[in-house]
Amino acid sequence: MTHACFDPKLLIKNYPRGEKELLGPFNRFGPKDTIDWFESKGVYLKAEGDGRMFPTTDSSETIINCFLSTAEKLGVEIHTQQKIESIEKVNDEFHLKMKDASLIKCEKLILATGNSSKGHIWAKELGHTIQEPVPSLFTFNVPASPLSNLSGISFEDVSVEICKSSFSQSGPLLITHFGFSGPAILKLSAWAARLLNKKEYSFEIKINWTKDHSLDQITQKLLKLKKNHQSKTLLSENIFKLPKNFWRLALRRLKIQDDKRLNDLTSKEINELSKLLFCDNFKVKGKTTNKEEFVTCGGVTLKEVNFKTMESKICKGLFFAGEILDIDGVTGGFNFQNAWTSAFLAGMPAS
Ligand SMILES: Cc1cc2nc3c(=O)[nH]c(=O)nc-3n(C[C@H](O)[C@H](O)[C@H](O)COP(=O)(O)OP(=O)(O)OC[C@H]3O[C@@H](n4cnc5c(N)ncnc54)[C@H](O)[C@@H]3O)c2cc1C
Repeated sequence: MTHACFDPKLLIKNYPRGEKELLGPFNRFGPKDTIDWFESKGVYLKAEGDGRMFPTTDSSETIINCFLSTAEKLGVEIHTQQKIESIEKVNDEFHLKMKDASLIKCEKLILATGNSSKGHIWAKELGHTIQEPVPSLFTFNVPASPLSNLSGISFEDVSVEICKSSFSQSGPLLITHFGFSGPAILKLSAWAARLLNKKEYSFEIKINWTKDHSLDQITQKLLKLKKNHQSKTLLSENIFKLPKNFWRLALRRLKIQDDKRLNDLTSKEINELSKLLFCDNFKVKGKTTNKEEFVTCGGVTLKEVNFKTMESKICKGLFFAGEILDIDGVTGGFNFQNAWTSAFLAGMPAS
C-alpha cells in the first residue's frame, strides 16, 4: 500500500524517475496521510520489518471495498465498459467521444490510465511529450550461469555493478533458476531501466560477494585466516558469512579441493579467490518479470506538469495522477504512494 518512510527527503530517494518533483507533493500528502486516510475509513495498515505496508487483513479486497463504498457515499458515478474513442479540447471544455457515439463534456479531466498506451496517446494529442515507456523492476537472466545449482539460495548483502556504467546497487540477492533476483537486482533494474533497454537486455554485471571490501582487504583477510587457522578449511571458517554451498561451488570453480587446509592454500589460489569474491563477472541475456509485478518507466514528461496541483502546464483543466506520469519507484509500496499522492493533489483542484 505504501512504505513506512515518513521523511519526504528520504522517501524520494526510492524514485529513479520523479525524485525531484515528488518532494513537494510528499510534504503535502505522504505515507502518514495515506495511513490516516485509510484509518478514517476503518482500514488499518501494518508495516513489515523492511518497511512495506499492507492492510492488516492481508487482502487487496479490503482496499477495493473501501474505495467502492467511499465513492458510493460521495455520489461518484462509475461507468464501466464505456470505451472512449477520442478526447478533444474544444474551447474550455473536454469532449470525450464514446464508442456508442455519445459525448461526455467536462471542464476538468484527470487522466489516470496507468501505463496504458491509450492514455499516452490522449496526453500526446492534448499537447504533451511522452517519454518512451520501457519496463522497470525485473530480474536478470544469466544463461549458463555457473551458479544455477545454487537456485533458491539468498545472500544478505552484496553489491552489483553494471559493467561500463555508473550503475551499482547493494542489498540482498537471490539466485534463481534463470539467474539473479532480489532487492539489489530489482533496484538496479529500475535505476538502469533506460540503459538496459538500449542494450536490449544483453550486458555484463560484476558482483562483489563481500559487499564493500576492496580486493586488498579481501586478500588480507584470507591471509590472516591462513595464518591463524592453519589446519582448518575455508568451509569450516566461512568468512564473510556467505552460504556454505556458495563456498563449496567457489572452490570447485577455482579447482581447489574443499577439504584443503588453509595452510596449504597457495598465493595464486588466495589471489584467485580474492578476485572471485571481489569481482565475479556474469553475462546477462534477457530479463524476467518479478512475480507478476511490473512497473513502467516513462510517460508524460514531468516538466510539463505543475506538481502543486498536478495540472498540465500545456492544457488547462487537464490533470494527471499515477503511473501515466514519467514517475516510477523501486519495489516496496513506492509506486502506490505516488498514485495516492498525485491523485490526492489532482483531486482537490479538479473537483
Ligand atoms: C501485479 C502488480 C503488482 C503490483 N504491486 C505493487 C506493490 O505491491 N506496491 C506498489 O507500490 N506498486 C505495485 N504495483 C504497481 C502499482 O500497481 C501501480 O504503480 C499503480 O497501480 C499505478 O496506479 P495508477 O492509478 O496510475 O494506474 P492503474 O492502477 O494501472 O490504473 C489505471 C486504470 O486505468 C484503466 N484504463 C487504462 N486505459 C484505459 C482506457 N483506455 N479507458 C478506460 N480505462 C482505462 C485501467 O483499466 C486501470 O483501471 C504493482 C503492479 C502490478 C501490475
